Amino acid sequence: MTDFGALRSPLTFLKTQLQDVPNQDLLEAEELWWKHDGLPISHAIDRAGTPWLRMFDRYGKRVDEILYPPEYQTMLRRGYRSGVVWRALEEKSLLPTYLLMHTISFYDPGICCPYTVSLGTAVPLAKYGSAELQSRFLPQLTRKDDSVWQGATWMTEIKGGSDLGAAVETIARPSANYWQLTGDKYFTSNANAELAVVAARPEGAAAGVRGLALFLVPRHRENGDLNYFIRRLKDKIATRSVPTGEIELRDSEAHLLGSADSGIYLILEVLNLSRVANSVVSVALAQRAMADALSYAEHRAAFGKPILEHPLLHHQFETRLGSLRAAFALAWESVHLLSEVWMQRPPYSDRYHLFRLVAHLAKYWTAEFAVDSAKWAMEVHGGLGVLAEYGAERWLREAVILAIWEGTPHRQILDALEVMDRKQAHKLLFAHLAAFAPTQDLQAMQSEVDRHLRLPANEKEALAEPLFKKLAVFTAETLGRK
Ligand SMILES: Cc1cc2nc3c(=O)[nH]c(=O)nc-3n(C[C@H](O)[C@H](O)[C@H](O)COP(=O)(O)OP(=O)(O)OC[C@H]3O[C@@H](n4cnc5c(N)ncnc54)[C@H](O)[C@@H]3O)c2cc1C
Repeated sequence: MTDFGALRSPLTFLKTQLQDVPNQDLLEAEELWWKHDGLPISHAIDRAGTPWLRMFDRYGKRVDEILYPPEYQTMLRRGYRSGVVWRALEEKSLLPTYLLMHTISFYDPGICCPYTVSLGTAVPLAKYGSAELQSRFLPQLTRKDDSVWQGATWMTEIKGGSDLGAAVETIARPSANYWQLTGDKYFTSNANAELAVVAARPEGAAAGVRGLALFLVPRHRENGDLNYFIRRLKDKIATRSVPTGEIELRDSEAHLLGSADSGIYLILEVLNLSRVANSVVSVALAQRAMADALSYAEHRAAFGKPILEHPLLHHQFETRLGSLRAAFALAWESVHLLSEVWMQRPPYSDRYHLFRLVAHLAKYWTAEFAVDSAKWAMEVHGGLGVLAEYGAERWLREAVILAIWEGTPHRQILDALEVMDRKQAHKLLFAHLAAFAPTQDLQAMQSEVDRHLRLPANEKEALAEPLFKKLAVFTAETLGRK
């Protein structure tokens, strides 16, 4: 019988998959805390549903406070203290961050959203902010105690998140010491963040994505008043460990990051961080769902023995464990590549274009795998799988959101086509995989991709999904053999 034991612990699984796992003592402490203390808090937050929004204090002053039970702060602040943001900047590596995210999201996938968007605020500030902006705001985002500030990344408006060039109507107007932003953001995770990066169009700038710029927007104005307003909180099916709301910007004080005509690159760099985080979280969620399915299958008996011992189910566990390892390899290739290129600026290197393709494959495939694994784990629980009291249903609710935010599957496929067409990223990928893939398989995959890229534009787009899926699985399995 195959030993599935590594599924039960995020750290054990990390150690079986990676050659080197730094900060093991930290990860072990994190895992222990989550197992005994964090998980009950996380489940209670999930069951409680949408947190409350208190818009006014008793004296009629607008305050826009999001009210969670106090234990939420204990759970949330722990990850910041452990270094999910500060380690990336202090240790100049993204590995510690994503290792923490794998460990934490095994228990609560949603809570990695606040961490990701805080990282997505700190990194562009550290990279593109003026010295004055950095000295004013960066220390607050990298504090090691509970006074740390949170960040947020707000791009999407009511007209859509995929086509930002057409949908972003928030306008930026220059004023004496800063810019002023006016507009409405429709999906705003970490809606109460102290600092957000926000996509807006400077007045008079070009239409489309080229006219967008990225701004830093503090929660409070220089005079202490609220600088943006929370219109309402979303009632979501999951990821309840992050408050997602709608934000109103009204002449909000803002600071430009980088130059006004390079905003789209900065926005895409923010998305790089969150897509890779999404891939790491998706794999951890799939591991979690499988671990729960395993403990159930060991105990539930049918036809005279534990259901795990029936050949059909046992085989399913074996093949799914193989797929989990492959998905992990794909996600972590995107981690390692991003760690190499995250400080690059345009014009980017070939290594960056390779990263982009791997990241699109990883975001797409790991999220699909998470949804499929969570659904399968529910089925292993039989009827109990759909009952809220046993928890298996939560992983499916959490997983479906992972497939949508940070760019839907369509977006990943179309962006991957673009980077293959324009930057020949598929050639970089095949060169990257050459040492690990059987030559014949590699040549066959390469010919298929080449043929597809020569199709007329409409057909190329319409028929892209099966090819993209095949390329994702091929890449994952090849990297899994590394
Ligand atoms: C819980 C949650 C939290 C979120 N938090 C944030 C946040 O903090 N900040 C933020 O900026 N955004 C956030 N989002 C928004 C998220 O990024 C968007 O939902 C996502 O990018 C898709 O945009 P949309 O919902 O507007 O769908 P649309 O862009 O309107 O797309 C609708 C459908 O059309 C498809 N589609 C679009 N174009 C094409 C095409 N060319 N070809 C084929 N199909 C296409 C899409 O893939 C999708 O299936 C959040 C979303 C959720 C669910």
